[in-house]
Amino acid sequence: MGKKDRSIQPAIVTLRDIPGTRVMFWAVESCPYCGETHLHLAGNLRSADPSDSLGEQPAPCDPTRPYVLTLAPRPQRNKKGKKGRRRKAWDEEEW
Ligand SMILES: [Zn+2]
Repeated sequence: MGKKDRSIQPAIVTLRDIPGTRVMFWAVESCPYCGETHLHLAGNLRSADPSDSLGEQPAPCDPTRPYVLTLAPRPQRNKKGKKGRRRKAWDEEEW
C-alpha cells in the first residue's frame, strides 16, 4: 500500500461481454500510453470474478510499461466547459 510508482499509469476500463458467450473482458477505452483501445480478458461469467483481473497489467502496446486497470467512476457531466481534446500526432512510432 505504501508503494508509489509514478511510472505506472491508471487505465480506465469498462466491463464488456461477448453476446452469446460467457466471456467477459475489460475494455480500456483510451490507453494512457498510446490512446488506443485495448481489451483484457476478465474471465468467464461462471467461474471468475472479473474484478480479480483488475489492477496492474502489462499494456499490450508496450509490455514494458504496465498500467493499472481501474474501474471508471460513475458517469457524470462536467460542470466546467469542455476543453478541446488534444490529439497526439502519430510521431511516436516506436513499436
Ligand atoms: Zn496502448
